[in-house]
Amino acid sequence: MLTRKSLSILPAIAALVIASCAVSSFDPNTGEVRSSTPSSSLVSQGLKQFDQMKREKKISTNPAYNAQVQRVATRLKSVINIPNAKWEFVVFEDSTPNAFCLPGGKVGVHSGLFQITQNDAGLAAVLGHEIAHVVLNHSQQRVNQATGVAIGTVLLDAVLNAKGVDKTGRAAAATGAAAAGTVGLILPYSRRAELDSDKLGTLYMARAGYDPNEAVKLWERFSAWRIKQGDKESPEFLRTHPLDQTRIVALQEFLPNAKREYKPM
Ligand SMILES: [Zn+2]
Repeated sequence: MLTRKSLSILPAIAALVIASCAVSSFDPNTGEVRSSTPSSSLVSQGLKQFDQMKREKKISTNPAYNAQVQRVATRLKSVINIPNAKWEFVVFEDSTPNAFCLPGGKVGVHSGLFQITQNDAGLAAVLGHEIAHVVLNHSQQRVNQATGVAIGTVLLDAVLNAKGVDKTGRAAAATGAAAAGTVGLILPYSRRAELDSDKLGTLYMARAGYDPNEAVKLWERFSAWRIKQGDKESPEFLRTHPLDQTRIVALQEFLPNAKREYKPM
């Protein structure tokens, strides 16, 4: 059981956890990005993991897929300026429609994604989103959050111990704090990170000469594909990724900002 005394220090722990999270931000109204650079250990982990994937996963030899990815990536890279990024875009043979990014600028695209992206602008929406994760240094945020929750839990135990709370009481408090950390901090932040990446990615595609309307169409195709697969939606607050409809609505609201920066080529 949590005593009144033990509950009184929870806000202090929460403040500590939150303080360790703020490494980058994106203002959707101005398009302003404030971003820290990832730690060198995180970058080297990213590069190592990507090298390993290239050794272990089958790399696609489909000439059309590879050419499209390089063509779109080149245009997107021309509107992004992050020093030290070692951009690399690789198509992996994998039927699940997915793409991912690793710290340091490594982006993987599954061959199964092309049925959804369908054209250069659709692919630009996905690659722009992945690039935005890298620019906003979201992996560092996740690492910091995870560390923050762990440190918070350890501290909580020490503080409660000093206050004379017994072992059972401390364990209950730790479980409560961990649950609060997971549901209240990590997952919602990830959702926000996803929405921020959608928006910043759409700005990038617009600046690179791709019609930002295509980003909305892309997510609608994704949503239709998921429904066809019978992907039953779980309660939104427990999902790492926002529901497709939430993303689409948020993106539609943001679209005028992106259209202002759209320069057709
Ligand atoms: Zn994402």
